[in-house]
Amino acid sequence: MKVRTRMAPSPTGDYHIGHIRTLLYNYAFARKNKGEFIIRIEDTDRERFIDGAIDRILDVISDFGFDWDEGPRVGGKFGPYLQSERLPIYKEYAEKLVKLGHAYYCFCTKERLSELKAEQERKGYPVTKYDKHCLSLTDEKIAENLKNNLPYVIRQKVPEDREIKLKDEILGEVKFQTKDIEDGVLLKSDGFPVYHLAVVVDDYLMGITHVLRGVDWLPSTPKHLLIYEALNWEPPKYAHLPNLKEVGGSQKLSKRFGAVFAHSFLEEGYLVPALVNFVMLLGWNPGDEREVFSLQEFIKEFSLERIHKTDLVAFDREKLLWMNGYYIRSMSLEALYDALLDWSKKFNVNLDVEGYSKEYVKKCLELVKDRMRKLNDFTDLTSYFFAPPIVNRELSERYIKDPSVRDKLLSEFYKLYTDIDSGKWGKDNLDKLSHELILDLGLKPKEAFMTLRIICLGKEATPPLFDVLHTLGKRTVLERIKSFI
Ligand code: GLU
Repeated sequence: MKVRTRMAPSPTGDYHIGHIRTLLYNYAFARKNKGEFIIRIEDTDRERFIDGAIDRILDVISDFGFDWDEGPRVGGKFGPYLQSERLPIYKEYAEKLVKLGHAYYCFCTKERLSELKAEQERKGYPVTKYDKHCLSLTDEKIAENLKNNLPYVIRQKVPEDREIKLKDEILGEVKFQTKDIEDGVLLKSDGFPVYHLAVVVDDYLMGITHVLRGVDWLPSTPKHLLIYEALNWEPPKYAHLPNLKEVGGSQKLSKRFGAVFAHSFLEEGYLVPALVNFVMLLGWNPGDEREVFSLQEFIKEFSLERIHKTDLVAFDREKLLWMNGYYIRSMSLEALYDALLDWSKKFNVNLDVEGYSKEYVKKCLELVKDRMRKLNDFTDLTSYFFAPPIVNRELSERYIKDPSVRDKLLSEFYKLYTDIDSGKWGKDNLDKLSHELILDLGLKPKEAFMTLRIICLGKEATPPLFDVLHTLGKRTVLERIKSFI
């Protein structure tokens, strides 16, 4: 049987980086097994539906470099792939479940249900549950209510006292007791199915063989297994994956600690191969020390056996930064330049390099490349290449306290640099002549060059000074010294 996996986003918000991890595992599992990867949009929760979310989710999945064999935008023989376009199918199966005795019509009003809930809460029930009131309606009463067009839902009839066993591909055997499960709604009064019904019907009809999803879906699985059983369908294999948490604790990923949404990571200037590589390791490892994988390498290596049997894995933001920096350093200058420009166009980021040649921008990029951890570090690291710095007085006085010594040094630098032929404005020559000068003046390299660096570049930490002065060019350097003096 051909392996078929799916990712089933709900357009109730933007795509989370954790979704990308789950998608990657489904994608890799299908590709590794020469199977098919499907995208299905689970848009049945109309209250939480967000306009535009479907397109944003599909766009970000594409931006991360994933394609799908069937689904929205590409079609396929099991479509439509939007659940809202499949309503008659769910109604048919909900009614079939009623006929088979595994579901029932419920005409309880909102008021009755909220009273019931309040009463159970008053009595101190640990969880409130539907009381199966409509399970005892006679066939005649049901027919009459339907004829009178009373609003209804269809509820799952969960057996009172059974043990359901799941053989999870990662967690092994997991047992559930049906007494803990409510007779939940399968089909709502507006004709929309709930997730539990739609997911089962679609996974089955779409021939999904493996469901890899976050472990937060584990409690739903017995409800799904009961529906499979009722319809006499073979369920797919389930593999429940660890969820992501912030480092140190059990907190879900939170905006307080940084980006959470997939697109925000791209917007901040993380590179797709670095992000994809990073999420590979959120729940899986190759069994040795290796950490750097291309998507193709990962597909070759990936297996469910190597997924951690745990609820939570830490999303180490520092490690992601490291990995992104590693990918930036590994890129050719040309490729990095192109990536930077593409990124700035896509996200409307002003690099503040207008009026400068590509050659010049590339030279600057080359100098800061090793210090960049994200593309958005570029402007901060290179600001002084494109505009005179605002020099902080106190900082400029930090390394040489005596104003007369400082003034003397700067005017000597000015004289020295004025006399250097433009053709000889190379970093080695600058380095040599500048060192000779400070030796004559009896100053230490650190105090003299830090002062020069601060007044020319505005900061203490920069790439090697003479590389930078060389790139800036004689005229600019002289202007900056002069304007400071
Ligand atoms: N629509 C569900 C979600 O938003 C899919 C859960 C599943 O994979 O079964 O994650």
